[in-house]
Parts: sequence; structure tokens; C-alpha cells
Amino acid sequence: MTNSNTGVNGAIGVIGLGNMGLGMVRTLVREGFAVIGFDLSGERQDEAARAGAAIVASQKELFKSCDTIILSLPTAAHVTAVLTGEGGLADGDGAPRLVIDTTTSEPDVTRNLDQILRPLGHILIDAPVSGGQAGANSGQLTMMVGGSDADFAKAMPVLTALGGKITHVGPVGAGHAVKIVNNMLVAAHLLTMSEAIRLGTAAGVEVEHLISALNAGSGRSAISEVNYPKWVMNGAFDSGFTMGLMRKDMRLAMALAAQKDVAMPVSELAGALWAKSADAFADDADFNRITEFEMTTDATGTHPIKAGE
Ligand code: NAD
Repeated sequence: MTNSNTGVNGAIGVIGLGNMGLGMVRTLVREGFAVIGFDLSGERQDEAARAGAAIVASQKELFKSCDTIILSLPTAAHVTAVLTGEGGLADGDGAPRLVIDTTTSEPDVTRNLDQILRPLGHILIDAPVSGGQAGANSGQLTMMVGGSDADFAKAMPVLTALGGKITHVGPVGAGHAVKIVNNMLVAAHLLTMSEAIRLGTAAGVEVEHLISALNAGSGRSAISEVNYPKWVMNGAFDSGFTMGLMRKDMRLAMALAAQKDVAMPVSELAGALWAKSADAFADDADFNRITEFEMTTDATGTHPIKAGE
């Protein structure tokens, strides 16, 4: 079957039907694509079926049924297992497939997977996303895409269905590098914004006034414009992105800096604070909870510790 709007042949497969994958299913169905989903969780599969996807019993079946496959998995290890493990593409029928990996993954792992899959005739592009569950549901994700010009062009019909802002940032792996850098900034901005609120309110300014003025000034960020009003100030903490996934992203940023020998003392302090936050907030807590993390620094000013320790 061909989608008459896009010229894409057959159904689009989505592996990983979590907060993001399920939103992508909803968007693709709304855009007129036939969608086939697979997740290890039966509950997530039921949700995707309710959203209009056909569900298959194994990833092998999904790879057999779809020319284009979207991955939305927790980590690079999951992506590697799905693509190269039993029932994966390296184990398939040999027909060429286009894989669009929207996972926040690791550039080197993605490049290695490309080296494995390309000789088998498959195309892998990395297209990690920003914009959260709301962006996935509405088809307004920001996408940072790595791949050749020709592969990027092949993926465009699906990317434009999912994304509002799509930037082709370089060859395969480049998208994952940009996403790690992006989330390092988000994680650091959450910490600096929470300090800004403490300082401003300690100096006698009402928090609402502080945020209104900051958002009209040059100190604003997505954290002050979106996160505080939408998830922090109203106590909702229901963004759909978890502490566990953000701690993963900070670990990836710290590892990339060490690998590339880039000194970044400010971000490293932010990374240490995020790692320490595991003592206070479980992996499944909303990532905006970091704004409630009580921090002091020790006498050297370099080692983050929790207040009261
Ligand atoms: P999630 O944990 O809600 O969903 C991941 C899903 O993958 C789960 O349903 C899990 O059962 C499934 N899964 C794991 N291994 C599998 C396998 N082998 N086969 C099939 N399914 C498998 O995570 P999420 O919040 O949807 O995030 C997905 C990715 O997108 C992550 O890499 C995350 O860092 C990134 N991301 C998330 C957000 C957000 O706001 N949630 C925003 C941008 C990027």
C-alpha cells in the first residue's frame, strides 16, 4: 500500500511504544500512514492498538512487514540488541530497510551499527528528538538528523510527518552528538534556573514576577519559558520525561567529553549534581523534580553535596 500524500510504500513500523513512540504512532496514523507497532510491554502494545496501530508478536515480524522502521528505545544498548540481535535486521530476509533511530543514543554506537547494516543493504539514520510527549503527539518534534544527503531525502516524508523543525546536522552519528549536547544544556539550565529562583525570592521578589521579568529578559531559556510554567510552578511534574533518562543523557555527555578530551568544568559540576540526585529522586520521577534538589557546595566549592550531609 502506498500513502498517496507521501509516496511511502507499505506500513511504517515503530519499535518502542513508550511515552515518545506512542505519540509518534498517533501522529503517523493521523497523517494517513498504516502503522505497525511492537513493544516488549503488552500494556504499551494495547495503548498503541487503541491509537490505531496494528500490533505484531515479535520484532522479526515487524522487520518483515515494514520497509521503514522507527526506533524509540531507552538506550544505545537497546538499539543494538534490536538491530543486531536475534530477530534483528542482521538476521533478516535481506530486503533493504530504512531505519530512523529517534532514541537518544550514542554517536559511536550509531556509526558502528551503520557499518554493520550498510553492507547488508540497509539504511540507518539518526534522528533524535526534542519537544517531549506533546511534540510527539502533535507531530511538532524538533529533529536533529544524521545521515547522507540521499538517505536524509529518503527519510523526509516520515520526518516531516513527525517533526516541526528538522535540521540535517551532518553524517550518520551527528544527530546523536547534537542531541547529547542539547540535553546537557537542558540539564544544566534546570539547575541554574532553580538557583536563580532561590536567589531572586531570597532577595524579596515574588516568584511569578521573577519569571515574567526573566522571560522578557536575556536570561530566559526553554526552562524559564516552558518547564517552570508548565510543570514546576503548578506542581504538575508530568512532562513524560524521567529523571532516569535525563541522568542517562548527562552520563553520555560526560563520557563524550572525556572521550574527546574536552574540558567543561561547569557542565561537569552539573553532571555530578545530576548523578547525586539519584539519592533523592527515583528513575521514574519527572526530570523537573531536579528543581527541588537541595544543594550546597563543600568548602572547596567544587564538590557537590546535598544539604544536611
Ligand atoms: P519510555 O521508557 O517511555 O519508552 C521506551 C519503550 O521501549 C518502553 O515502552 C519499553 O518497553 C520499550 N522497549 C525496551 N526495549 C525494547 C525492545 N527490545 N523491543 C521493543 N520495545 C522495547 O521512554 P521514552 O520517554 O518514550 O523515550 C524514548 C527515547 O526517546 C529515549 O531514548 C529518550 O531519552 C528519548 N527522548 C524522550 C523524551 C521524552 O520527553 N520522554 C524526549 C526526547 C527524547
